[in-house]
Amino acid sequence: MKIKTNNYVCSICGKRNVKLWRPYGYGAPLICAECAEKRQSPREYEKKIWHRLGKDRFSGKFTGERLPLPKWKVNENGKIPTNMGPAPKGMTIIPMTDQLLVDLSDVSIEYSPGSTSMIPACPNEDGYFWAYTVVPEENCKWWEELPTR
Ligand SMILES: [Zn+2]
Repeated sequence: MKIKTNNYVCSICGKRNVKLWRPYGYGAPLICAECAEKRQSPREYEKKIWHRLGKDRFSGKFTGERLPLPKWKVNENGKIPTNMGPAPKGMTIIPMTDQLLVDLSDVSIEYSPGSTSMIPACPNEDGYFWAYTVVPEENCKWWEELPTR
């Protein structure tokens, strides 16, 4: 399989040969992990009191206290924690996602300030992107093997 990567370049910093994300439903702009980290949408989470139910099973009770969500960093697999807020102490498997919420209002006037959901940009042999849920395994693997930064 030969994936066309001529245009596989970060729309903001021009970086090539790294994992890129695109807005859900659109082919542009493409954004790398480092540019996404700088543009993550400031969010809040509601603090929870956790009760352990079993190994890696917790139930949380909302306290009503709202706190700023700590900044995320994309890991080498291109993922960030799914959790809204810190995971319970003692949790060994942290749920992760490859979707990044960013504020692109400095990139294009087409994006209102707030959050745009970015998904992995997995091109096919012609350079077009596979829809999020139907990326063939081979193309997924190609994306996963690209360096994150
Ligand atoms: Zn970039």
